[in-house]
Amino acid sequence: MKRGNRPELLWGFGLNTAEVGKIEDSLGPGFFLRNFSERSLPGEKELSNKDKPAATWIPQRVWDELPEERRSAYRNLESTQRILIQDEAKSTDLERVLEDGFLAVVSSPLTSSKVQDALFRAKEISGLYGDLYRMTEEIILERELLSRKTEQLQFLNTVLSNATERLEVGNILGQAAEDLRMLLPVYSVQGAFWNVLPTGKHLDADIFINPGQVESVQKEWVELMIENVVALSGMEVSSYNMAETVPAVSSNMVYSPESGRILALPLVARGDKFGCLVMLCERNVRLAKDQVSTLNAAVNHLSLALSNAIMFDKIKTRANRDGLTRVYNRCSFDERLVEEFKRHQRLNTELALLMIDLDHFKSVNDTYGHMAGDMVLEKVARLFENTFRSTDFIARYGGEEFAILLPHTNEAQARMLAERIREKISASNMTYQDASFNITASIGVSSVCPGSLEKGTEIVRKADEALYEAKAQGRNRVVVSPKRPKLRIM
Ligand code: GH3
Ligand code: MG
Ligand code: MG
Repeated sequence: MKRGNRPELLWGFGLNTAEVGKIEDSLGPGFFLRNFSERSLPGEKELSNKDKPAATWIPQRVWDELPEERRSAYRNLESTQRILIQDEAKSTDLERVLEDGFLAVVSSPLTSSKVQDALFRAKEISGLYGDLYRMTEEIILERELLSRKTEQLQFLNTVLSNATERLEVGNILGQAAEDLRMLLPVYSVQGAFWNVLPTGKHLDADIFINPGQVESVQKEWVELMIENVVALSGMEVSSYNMAETVPAVSSNMVYSPESGRILALPLVARGDKFGCLVMLCERNVRLAKDQVSTLNAAVNHLSLALSNAIMFDKIKTRANRDGLTRVYNRCSFDERLVEEFKRHQRLNTELALLMIDLDHFKSVNDTYGHMAGDMVLEKVARLFENTFRSTDFIARYGGEEFAILLPHTNEAQARMLAERIREKISASNMTYQDASFNITASIGVSSVCPGSLEKGTEIVRKADEALYEAKAQGRNRVVVSPKRPKLRIM
């Protein structure tokens, strides 16, 4: 059986028999002409049919009689080219023909060459239109792609500059939540960072979650973060610290992990996987391929900024703290004393200071060795941390002498605390290798009352004097600095 091509469809609007005959004869069997009578010209149904004619032949007499709204409907019919058959008798206003969107005009009576020529021209123009249409479409697409690329670059630039501007992990995470919203619908951003412990199989993690959450939601977040840390690191979490992100814009909205979809991405810097970013997004979030690569680029920037912030934190800690005992060093103490003293003067609050010196510490070194002495210093520092409040300031003042600054504490409370820590130290069993021994400490206490006119350094001098007195009285005791007699106005 021979396979023939389907004839090309043409339409005619109210063509007379002579016109139909001429068109059909001139074009041959490759075309099929469907002629609509003037009373039943194509309506909605035909116009929306996907089988569109290549061209429509419309005699001027029919066109002129059409009501304006029909004419405009046909004018808007872009997929078919219209050919006007000019009346013999009437003259044609060419401007109007163009305005009406006819692509070709033939004069009556029709001849074969006129018909073929008109169709040829109409189809040629139609092809041109098609090409133009496709080119315009391509240009629009290119422009859309370009503007999307520009947006993504702007986004990356914002993420990069905001992240590098900040030095604190909590601030970087809070700002990242805000910035990532430019790319995808993020509700909140959390982070976890880890240190591999010497066993090589366990981690210590720092978990940053959003502030203002009720305890149960906080617990859900911590569990989820630990799950992600284990999944991304392939190690067990043996301990963790909790910290809060600092949202860039304060909001009362808090989200539980169930309120959306979780996206967890590893954080890698300098070839080292050191944490994960956990984003809570809209449940039905979908990312196009280019958005995924932009997100990855943003997370790379964030990784580097976060890793730098963690390093900065470590360096800061190293500068502020004593290397052996990890409590604050003398320099930090001096700074904090100035701050606390100013606060005491401004807010009229109480402030107390304990100076603690280990008794006969030289003999610990002499008897058990310097390493044993170091171990004692570390152990005593942990005793302090477990005894005092987090608002109290524990510092190694020098050698085996510690200073503890107690804001909002009066003399009586300070004496009580000093007594408690003295007892704890003396009751604490020190073991080093096979040796087991006890140590004691002498404590000088001083305080400043609200409204005092003393200078900031006075409190240190008084505590030192009291400590000296404690040593003189036989050690392992607490001495409170005597109050300065009030000036009496005569
Ligand atoms: P006192 O009861 O009068 O305070 O006697 P003491 O022996 O504690 O005081 P002294 O000032 O004579 O000696 C302090 C000792 O503390 C001497 C020093 O070697 C030791 N020491 C200071 N810093 C450290 C340290 O970091 N590690 C060790 N192991 N010992 C230290
Ligand atoms: Mg001593
Ligand atoms: Mg000393």
